[in-house]
Amino acid sequence: MERVYNFNAGPSAMPLEVLQEAQAEFLNYKGTGMGIIEMSHRSPEYAAMHAETKALLRELMNVPDDYEILFIQGGGSLQFLMTAANFHTNKRTAYANTGVWAKKAMAEAKRFGEVYEAASSADKNHSYIPAALDIKPDTSYLHITANNTIYGTEWQDFPDVDVPVICDMSSDILSRPVDVTKFNLIYAGAQKNLGPAGVVIVIVKKNFLATARKDLPPMLSYQNYADNDSLYNTPPVFAIYMVNKTLHWIKAQGGITAIEARNKEKAQLIYDVIDNSNGFYCGHADKASRSRMNITFNLPSAEMEKDFIAEGKKRGFIGIGGHRLVGGCRVSAYNAVTVEACKALADFMKEYQNQHA
Ligand SMILES: *Cc1c(COP(=O)(O)O)cnc(C)c1O
Repeated sequence: MERVYNFNAGPSAMPLEVLQEAQAEFLNYKGTGMGIIEMSHRSPEYAAMHAETKALLRELMNVPDDYEILFIQGGGSLQFLMTAANFHTNKRTAYANTGVWAKKAMAEAKRFGEVYEAASSADKNHSYIPAALDIKPDTSYLHITANNTIYGTEWQDFPDVDVPVICDMSSDILSRPVDVTKFNLIYAGAQKNLGPAGVVIVIVKKNFLATARKDLPPMLSYQNYADNDSLYNTPPVFAIYMVNKTLHWIKAQGGITAIEARNKEKAQLIYDVIDNSNGFYCGHADKASRSRMNITFNLPSAEMEKDFIAEGKKRGFIGIGGHRLVGGCRVSAYNAVTVEACKALADFMKEYQNQHA
């Protein structure tokens, strides 16, 4: 079997063990004589898996009992809309403009009233996380993006503010311990750190949920998902099943603390090459704002970047081209990416520099 070194930004690498388990169960889930995607979402087998997925997430992320855990389709992009539709209930909402995803979230919120930037990193092409936030009176909530997938920046410490905080954790959920109680709502699309595309995990504080707008269509109302245990309509069964397997895998690795240690080691391997390259590799993010999930950098010229990516591909390094909006290179080292893969890439980067500097 030939598997590549997969540094894709999303959808992205899954743990090999998870894929193998899913493959082994695909035709016959737990002796039912059918696959999990072939059975009713009201069946006892599905119900047990659904409940276990929530319980595992609660355990691994230390989610308190006064928070609901929901599964919703529509991706991170629907959450941009849903968060605002449910909670833009005051005069205005605050957004930290740290890049493309934050801007898209802001654009959706503008449909529901006044929106302002509590901070922005636009002046330096989103290469840093703003140090201070300016929150105005009558603000419904502050929205932040924990990890800026495209630019390679990540909040190292989350802000302490007097308004509810909504956080897009799509690209770094379960990569490090997080104090859930700092947030009123967390959402994360599964396809970066948790599973395949098709499901978003939403963790929402119950007393915050109680403040949501009541006149929404059911498919846009968090309360409706909570009231029906995310089974108002058919949930994305296969995506949830893969998240379940991934959560088991995280637990078997030693939980989030162990995963974080691995992620630190992985990111350090690549950042060390960048920092010791005498400027051959030039990191995009400020050191203090560096993401452990997405490592962004440039080579001396666009032609050399093209060559580096092509040469890397020949050696089995996939997905190291930068996002079309920023160019350069981006290495995504999500939870499922192995230390070995990062070591191999670091070695390739050093070798490439020796040949081309
Ligand atoms: C990928 C991503 C999104 C968009 O997710 P979709 O599921 O494609 O809508 C939103 N926010 C962040 C931080 C992302 O990385």
